[in-house]
Amino acid sequence: MCGIVGGIAKRDVVPILVEGLRRLEYRGYDSAGIAVLNGDDALSRLRSTGRVAELANLASQAHLTGSTGIAHTRWATHGVPSERNAHPHVSGGIAVVHNGIIENYEAIRSELKAKGYEFVSDTDTEVIAHLIHFQLAPGGDLFEATRGAVHKLRGAYAIA
Ligand code: GLU
Repeated sequence: MCGIVGGIAKRDVVPILVEGLRRLEYRGYDSAGIAVLNGDDALSRLRSTGRVAELANLASQAHLTGSTGIAHTRWATHGVPSERNAHPHVSGGIAVVHNGIIENYEAIRSELKAKGYEFVSDTDTEVIAHLIHFQLAPGGDLFEATRGAVHKLRGAYAIA
């Protein structure tokens, strides 16, 4: 059982996200990660196979800040516990954290590979990031692209 946290605030969301992950630690996890957007919409991501405290240290050392962000504690179902498989998974400027299983991920992965998408993890989650990216026309609406992507996904899951 993993944990998902998301936040949008006028102040830095990193301490809020880290505190959210701390509160979810009791559920168990094998790795953790965080991604934030800063003012100019640049995406920064940090992942660790250590405890949430270690991720918090990494965030502090990297001076990670942002007003919009997502974070995750992972309980691996697809792909070994590793930094490479830890969430968030990204495609272009899109980052995704995911709880659960995408049952039809292999078919979607093959379709996206045929369209030129490169996969760098063994997770079912990475297809979600690429699928949203594929659905998002330049200048398009992220919510609509996400809705279009979700329409293709089968399984019991939650995403941010
Ligand atoms: N199926 C995803 C993975 O293996 C999410 C697992 C979870 O719920 O933490 O990365």
